[in-house]
Amino acid sequence: MPDVARTLTVDLGDRSYPILIGQGLLGSADLSSYVKGDRALIVTNETVAPLYLERATGSFPGKAVDSVVLPDGERYKNWETLNLIFDALLEKRHTRKTTLVALGGGVIGDMTGFAAACYQRGVQFIQIPTTLLSQVDSSVGGKTGINHPLGKNMIGAFHQPEVVLIDTDTQGSLPPRELPAGLAEVIKYGLIREPAFLEWLEDNMAALRSLDAVAMVEAIYRSCACKADVVAVDEKEGGLRAILNLGHTFGHAIETFTGYGTWLHGEAVGTGMLMAADLSCRLGYLSADDLERVVRVLQSAGLPLEPPADMTPEDFLRLMAVDKKNVDGALRLVLLESLGKAVVTSDFPTQKLEETLARFCS
Ligand code: NAD
Ligand code: MG
Repeated sequence: MPDVARTLTVDLGDRSYPILIGQGLLGSADLSSYVKGDRALIVTNETVAPLYLERATGSFPGKAVDSVVLPDGERYKNWETLNLIFDALLEKRHTRKTTLVALGGGVIGDMTGFAAACYQRGVQFIQIPTTLLSQVDSSVGGKTGINHPLGKNMIGAFHQPEVVLIDTDTQGSLPPRELPAGLAEVIKYGLIREPAFLEWLEDNMAALRSLDAVAMVEAIYRSCACKADVVAVDEKEGGLRAILNLGHTFGHAIETFTGYGTWLHGEAVGTGMLMAADLSCRLGYLSADDLERVVRVLQSAGLPLEPPADMTPEDFLRLMAVDKKNVDGALRLVLLESLGKAVVTSDFPTQKLEETLARFCS
């Protein structure tokens, strides 16, 4: 193992699994003990394959490793592309003992996990997330799935991996906007549950943005630990897990308004968290200084602080009304009782929300 490496266990009883986090792990860490049979299929895409497929294959010494390379993009997170995974498995005669390996960002992770949940009624899978967002969010928690033309992530299953391998070196090739977008979800963990982590992020943001490996391993470890804690309490989203949606109701409105893909998810969540913090301040939960800290940490991560200029309060209200968290028509939001403590509530005057929207939509 390299010097900069840490391991975390996601505690889910007999479905517990380790997350290995470090610099240079891909190809050097031996994952063959997590492959039950003697075969594996690596699922990746046309962007990631030329960068990391060969190295990833090196992490399975003694195993017969096949691969399938999918087209790249959220618009391919669908049945048709999923079928390419099943085609490869069947053509190459993979049995129930096979292990699928997701090598890529959240799109590849979600599709591969879902393919593993379905193939021959369920086979094992391994996550090798290669974007910061997938390393701190989508690879932890067991949600897998694809999009339907009528809704995002509408078809899916809970399916936990055998192991997650996170190599911070993969961040070196990310398109520039992907890093801040991933940092938004990292900051989220500080804001909802980990005040000490929020302080650490305020001190270490510059190191993270320059891809300092020691800082990055620490940030990923603490993020995954936070998500793993929440998921361990509430694996299938009965209650607590909803706090992971801080900023997401405002953020989804921005993503839908602009058309998916214009704003990155993390960028929309960043602005959404600021709007949630602003409302929390208007409700007397956060002080003006607290709000200013939220502004500064998002700014230092390189995230946008304003929604699209042409978006109106009415656009927000219309698009937020369809959120999954709403109960009996009442808008439910994740707000901050204090920095590091989230609450899910519909108990706020609409007028305060309107004030927040008016402040952000000029
Ligand atoms: P993504 O998978 O589309 O990756 C972003 C882009 O970066 C893609 O073009 C990808 O090919 C490329 N890429 C990946 N790794 C790279 C690398 N190391 N170097 C260069 N390019 C690289 O997007 P994402 O942000 O990783 O994931 C978003 C997806 O994750 C969405 O579909 C979302 O629904 C899902 N998600 C799932 C969960 C969950 O709990 N399952 C949580 C959050 C998000
Ligand atoms: Mg998110």
